[in-house]
Amino acid sequence: MEKCPVCDSPKFQEILSLDHQPIYQHPVVSADAIKEPYFKDLNYFFCKNCEHCFQKNPAISVLEKLYQDHYYTPRPPDIGVQFQNQFLQTLLERFKVLTPSASILEVGCSAGEMLTKINRLFPDTVLAGFEPNTQTAERASASGFLVYGQFFTNRASQTIKRKFDLIFHRHVIEHVFDFEDFFQAHQNVSHGETVLIVETPCLNWSIQHQSMAAFHIEHVHVFSIMSLKRLLEKHNWYLKAYVETSNGHLIGLFTRVNGRISVPGVGNLFQLSLWIEKNKNVLEKAVHGKKLALWGAGSGGVKVMNYFNICPDIIVDSNPDKAGKTFVGYAQLKIANADVWIEQEFKNSRSWLILVASTYFEEIQQRLGQAGWEGDILNPYSPL
Ligand SMILES: [Zn+2]
Repeated sequence: MEKCPVCDSPKFQEILSLDHQPIYQHPVVSADAIKEPYFKDLNYFFCKNCEHCFQKNPAISVLEKLYQDHYYTPRPPDIGVQFQNQFLQTLLERFKVLTPSASILEVGCSAGEMLTKINRLFPDTVLAGFEPNTQTAERASASGFLVYGQFFTNRASQTIKRKFDLIFHRHVIEHVFDFEDFFQAHQNVSHGETVLIVETPCLNWSIQHQSMAAFHIEHVHVFSIMSLKRLLEKHNWYLKAYVETSNGHLIGLFTRVNGRISVPGVGNLFQLSLWIEKNKNVLEKAVHGKKLALWGAGSGGVKVMNYFNICPDIIVDSNPDKAGKTFVGYAQLKIANADVWIEQEFKNSRSWLILVASTYFEEIQQRLGQAGWEGDILNPYSPL
């Protein structure tokens, strides 16, 4: 039975057929040595279960030969760098995974363009790469990186004794024929805290923008966000964050830590009573003789009053429409407009403890800080 290469589901359908597509998409010095065929019909299928898109019978031997022998297209360092820079920015600013002393492996490192950029920023990092194209690997090697001129396979990676802190590949995974072997190779060169970054064309984006760019013979797979997450989960890499770039690339950050929710004990779901008991002590200490203001006239505020059985001196809220109103069951309480109240009590700020029972805790804390508020501020949902 035929099945989806990611989730094994038999529920897939053809979504795209492209007749007479070029097999060789990179210029060569001489075409004489390359035997026909030069064109092939491509059929892409879509898995309804995991939203993966794939070719059913990829031309494996033709492509493997092509990657080794006809894939040498390095370019001057200042051309086509936009996507490299975008990737680097994502690593630096969004994911914050580049550190000065890390050891880094790039799978499919080409002529070492990305490794060179990282090396410039962090000269002390250990940088290594895998690159199956002989000529390109030599070029990367000449730049001083430790380069393995092979496909990144279980067998090839077994010879490496080092475990890397960061592994990344850009536009590699959509070319892979054997995921079991590919991820066994990851396993061989990673440790428990290794971070894996994967960049690949995004199916969601391709469909949304009616873009054909991701569909050509080398792309055996076109991943959706769901199918990429699913595949990596199968190999014990868990999605922690991702970005979809403006040009339709998906960059995902994966770690070995399974972020799934686990329920601590049966019957007493969040051990609420224990949580209240602990936090009640913290709150009592924090108040010690101060007046109590509760920021957040919403469900967060009411729950705090109820959980801790407290009656604040005032409730304030940023929404002016709530000023003057009250809560059912707390008739003696009045709600004031936060801005007005801050102005009124500014001189006495040290005599107040503000409990910010709002999901906007950080924003409110920042706002009070900027205003010069000197009183204590506490998030009652996480004082511990
Ligand atoms: Zn599937």
